[in-house]
Amino acid sequence: MRRWNGWGDEATVVDLPAHGAGFLAARIGTGQALADASLAEVVARVPPSRLSAHPLVSLDAEARIRHARGQSLPDWLAMREGRFEVFPDGVAYPESAEQIRQLLAWAAEQNALLIPYGGGTSVAGHINPQVSDRPVLTLSLARMGRLLDLDEASLIATFGPGANGPQVESQLRARGYTLGHFPQSWELSTLGGWVASRSSGQQSLRYGRIEQLFAGGTLETFAGPLRIASFPASAAGPDLREMVLGSEGRFGVLSEIKVRVTPLAEQERFYAVFLPSWERALEAVRRLTQARVPLSMLRLANAEETQTQLALAGHPQQIALLEKYLALRGAREGKCMLTFGVTGCRRQNAASLRQAKDWLKRFGGVFTGTLLGRKWAENRFRFPYLREALWRAGYVVDTLETATDWSNVAPLMAQIEKSLREGLAAEGERVHVFTHLSHVYGQGSSLYSTYVFRPGSDYAQALARWRRLKHAASQTIVDNGGTISHQHGVGRDHAPYLAVEKGEQGLAALRALSRHFDPEGRLVPGVLLQE
Ligand SMILES: Cc1cc2nc3c(=O)[nH]c(=O)nc-3n(C[C@H](O)[C@H](O)[C@H](O)COP(=O)(O)OP(=O)(O)OC[C@H]3O[C@@H](n4cnc5c(N)ncnc54)[C@H](O)[C@@H]3O)c2cc1C
Repeated sequence: MRRWNGWGDEATVVDLPAHGAGFLAARIGTGQALADASLAEVVARVPPSRLSAHPLVSLDAEARIRHARGQSLPDWLAMREGRFEVFPDGVAYPESAEQIRQLLAWAAEQNALLIPYGGGTSVAGHINPQVSDRPVLTLSLARMGRLLDLDEASLIATFGPGANGPQVESQLRARGYTLGHFPQSWELSTLGGWVASRSSGQQSLRYGRIEQLFAGGTLETFAGPLRIASFPASAAGPDLREMVLGSEGRFGVLSEIKVRVTPLAEQERFYAVFLPSWERALEAVRRLTQARVPLSMLRLANAEETQTQLALAGHPQQIALLEKYLALRGAREGKCMLTFGVTGCRRQNAASLRQAKDWLKRFGGVFTGTLLGRKWAENRFRFPYLREALWRAGYVVDTLETATDWSNVAPLMAQIEKSLREGLAAEGERVHVFTHLSHVYGQGSSLYSTYVFRPGSDYAQALARWRRLKHAASQTIVDNGGTISHQHGVGRDHAPYLAVEKGEQGLAALRALSRHFDPEGRLVPGVLLQE
């Protein structure tokens, strides 16, 4: 069963290796565990619903709790403390586009606000109800996860919007295809959420971001359905898909989604290489990407992340042996781990691997075979469970991300890390920060930073610390040429920083679209566009 106050399935428990706890204690001090509230305590705090009864709507307290928060750090703290503040008044479970339309009409009758809800994995405050005079109806797409059609000649699959990662892949794999979209939240996040918040999967190098995969579909709006036809390409004016991608539920509810799929590959392999320094690693990855070597994924950890990963991996004796070997081959302190993948037919993969090796050797790359790459692939969706383990050990962990041009990657990373590392200095607290690149383009790259800090003596202090760090890093990003989000979207947490990027005219145009599709301002007010 899914955890009500954290990440993933209750049956999956990941522990922090003893060596990892020692590593963190040496960097930022001994952990400070805070007590968790129980579900029963929270159930007792849920107020009566302001909605009347409807056959598709649950007014049950536990359902309302389970849809009240996403997975951002403030959400995490609220769930752990049991201080949710606001709950949706009801959760609707439509099973068809027709039922979504009925629920939109019913929400208008009830004068309710509406929150489209996919997997609830938002890390930017997208799906949280706010205090309002109007009741709040959360519309879960969980019962709309079926593969509705597969055009095998055109490689177009039509899905219900609530299909989560495993549902998408299992239905496609049974027919010999894959979508190839693997965000780290894949276990729980949904196709509708991916489109609505412009997500990016770990193998975006081969399959593209969701923008490249989304071929069309239907958006149910208060102004009527918007049907976006699917073409291989079209010069018929602005592309309406772009209006829906990243709309974050503001314009309507996606009821049907067409995606571009790929036949399953004959072979897939992942490898790990260590490069002697950040400067050389960065140059290697840029050159490799710009040469268009056909890799399916690439993830470059900076020196601090490499060290942290090795410390948290457990197996200290094997890691010590690995480090000895790397040192002999010239990858010592300051080394950076690069994981990359090849996906395709065997001959193509062999050629891609040869090309990648040639490039990386020029920059001092040391290959370690397939074991570390295989481990990465096996554990790729287990990393979020580490947050649970860190929390139990008394540490708070959060991540943030941006993208910028290659010429700005190194300076921006240094600025972001500095803003986080020094963010709690006034309190005498240290913050452990590390970064990787995981989505690379000819023009530039994403930057993904993780920061770990101690919560302090209570939840209020933990939240205040997060606010200070998040603001410092977000301001640093927009002031220094980064986008406020490469993949997590805007939600509420990033909305104050959006104007720098979109400008006055851009925001005014988005507001006009929101008014057109949702004249009474019912859909997720405050998300994407501040009120
Ligand atoms: C541990 C973890 C790892 C993550 N890793 C990644 C990653 O690798 N890459 C990445 O891109 N993101 C990642 N994320 C962020 C998050 O998973 C993505 O933003 C994802 O796309 C959200 O999908 P969801 O189905 O959970 O949407 P939700 O969180 O339910 O909703 C997100 C937004 O989309 C809207 N929405 C959802 N469904 C619909 C619909 N059918 N119609 C209209 N609007 C809709 C909601 O109203 C909301 O505004 C991660 C999050 C976590 C917690």
